Amino acid sequence: MTFQATVLTLYPEMFPGPLGMSLAGRALVEGVWSLQAQNIRASATDKHRSVDDTPAGGGAGMVLRADVLAAALDSVADGRPMLAMTPRGRPLIQARVRELAAGEGAIVLCGRFEGFDERIFEAREVEPVSIGDYVLSGGELGAMVLLDACVRLLPGVMGAASSGEEESFEQGLLEYPHYTRPFEWEGRTIPEVLRSGDHARIAAWRHEQAVNDTRLRRPDLIERHGGASQAPPSGARQRNEGKTK
Ligand code: SAH
Repeated sequence: MTFQATVLTLYPEMFPGPLGMSLAGRALVEGVWSLQAQNIRASATDKHRSVDDTPAGGGAGMVLRADVLAAALDSVADGRPMLAMTPRGRPLIQARVRELAAGEGAIVLCGRFEGFDERIFEAREVEPVSIGDYVLSGGELGAMVLLDACVRLLPGVMGAASSGEEESFEQGLLEYPHYTRPFEWEGRTIPEVLRSGDHARIAAWRHEQAVNDTRLRRPDLIERHGGASQAPPSGARQRNEGKTK
């Protein structure tokens, strides 16, 4: 079963872009997923092929027309979820990415200028999605973020080693920190426990690090997952205790 991605954009030549490389690129070549980038302008109806107009009520910039957006969506709609990239959307989270990756694909609408005529969200089943609390100049990078996150979860795309179950956000936690050789670098050593070969101890240490780092950096994640059960064991060790001197 191929994951089918369709991107509606004013800049189809931006695709596959980074999605044509590395893991996602190989999976694209292998047919694990497919990508179609369609120009929104192809759905324009007037003789100037216009896709936007000035904002009702005044103000700067241009707004993408609802009639053109609807025609673009209708031309590719086939039951796959339809998502629109907008800073006004629900923030994208790994749980939603997993759901999407388990489905047949996605249709992703990319905005430009001031964004979309709001009526498109009433007239069509389009889920507004944000990739974070900052403003991009267009939805294309957002669409790439969303699709990259989905594609790496498709069966066979990541190596067996990284099934993704321990990764950041999967348990409501950031992932534990990683280390690799050389064992000593600029006077810093790899935490001794990781060389102990004691898998239970290593697992406990990693969990503790994950909880501590999440508390420090992303208390909102702990909160969201009802963090009490994730309280770190007392006497949590400091990660830099491996430093020599
Ligand atoms: N005037 C809008 C921003 C428009 S930015 C506002 O203030 O809400 C132009 C386009 O970039 C948007 O239509 C959207 O498709 C994309 N974009 C910008 N920031 C984004 C974000 N954080 N997440 C997803 N898409 C974003």
